[in-house]
Amino acid sequence: MAETANPPRPQDEVVDIARDLIRIDTTNTGDNATAKGERAAAEYVAEQLAEVGLEAKIYESAPGRASVACRFPGADPSRGALLLHGHLDVVPAEASEWTVHPFSGEIKDGYLFGRGAVDMKDFDAMLLALVRDWKRRGKVPPRDLVLLFTADEEAGSDYGARFMVEQHPEVFEGVTEAVGEVGGFSVTLPNDLRVYVVQTAEKGLDWLRLRATGRPGHGSMLHDDNAVTRLTRAVANIGQHEFPVEMTPTVRQFLESVSELTGIAFDPNNPDETVAKLGPVARLIGATLRNTANPTRLNAGYKTNVIPSTADAVIDCRSLPGRNDELEAILRELAGPGIDFEYEIRQPGYETSFDGVLVDAMAEAIRQADPGARTVPYMLSGGTDAKAFATLGIRCFGFAPLKLPADLDFTALFHGIDERVPLDGLKFGVDVMDRFISQS
Ligand SMILES: [Zn+2]
Repeated sequence: MAETANPPRPQDEVVDIARDLIRIDTTNTGDNATAKGERAAAEYVAEQLAEVGLEAKIYESAPGRASVACRFPGADPSRGALLLHGHLDVVPAEASEWTVHPFSGEIKDGYLFGRGAVDMKDFDAMLLALVRDWKRRGKVPPRDLVLLFTADEEAGSDYGARFMVEQHPEVFEGVTEAVGEVGGFSVTLPNDLRVYVVQTAEKGLDWLRLRATGRPGHGSMLHDDNAVTRLTRAVANIGQHEFPVEMTPTVRQFLESVSELTGIAFDPNNPDETVAKLGPVARLIGATLRNTANPTRLNAGYKTNVIPSTADAVIDCRSLPGRNDELEAILRELAGPGIDFEYEIRQPGYETSFDGVLVDAMAEAIRQADPGARTVPYMLSGGTDAKAFATLGIRCFGFAPLKLPADLDFTALFHGIDERVPLDGLKFGVDVMDRFISQS
């Protein structure tokens, strides 16, 4: 591309690109027939990259379900490549509930509004603004960067990250680490100290179907083999079970760091108590202290006087990394005999250590951009594309930097009404990513 007199600044471009992306409605309904916009978004991304001389390739897993990848060669090809990833799809938004249209990309009161503003077209835009700036200025990353923008993260990644991992492993050649959501945002502790949480672990996703089989019969008769009774006993036992605290290295390190920074005492024998004192962060951390198993669906019977032969239920289980077999053993015991287990989804969690060049680079970039602030590791209780990349042995981190006002309930914005991102936060994010990637 020819040099222009005044190339756009990445701090300005990031807002425009995020806005453009929000205006491409990429609602993922979980159904290929109604999911939309991912192809248009992928083409937009490819154009943004092509404009500065980066050749991107679009991959379709099913008609319209498009992901886009590109390699930005680095200075030292002998080093492992760094995967920078973001998803292009968003969850549905009900326009009538919003104060602005969720796909209009409106800017007001210093915020960019729209579905995807924090999950995660903000980070997609940071990545694009950053590499466009570097290419224009002829700046070369220290090592190969693989940029990947995926479809289908919001519905389990089968048509996006998982498809890429399974069908196009060549895209990940030489990749040793990955950086994406959900981390890098600031959290203000009770003593007004700002920490930036880096995701170094993610709980597993285990959607388990329980099925009881019994003897069918007439509802007016004596009956001792009722599938509904057996199933509901199992569901109640599981739903009422209090899983013990199992502190993983990530959660322990988070609590130790926060305790040190705030002076809130940390009792390893009672981490729940420590977490409860942390204010809004408690919601982020509470669910990562233990396995969870919440019954969410029940299905049995078709007529009041007919005892059905089967009954089934679905349990939304979230296992700690490396503990999904252990969780299943506990659930089998709680369910008792005569209950069959079948997984709708079984994606184990992952955990990586909070150390190394990349982690140091994150901490340093944050220190430079927000003096006095610290980075701490944490575990996400939800799911992201990272679980798919972790299956390739890649160390995964969530680091999409955003400096947030202390009173903003950030986690509520994910999939929430009036999802929005501070414009200053976007600019801050590009700045931090620039420093971070330069030192990566
Ligand atoms: Zn997301």
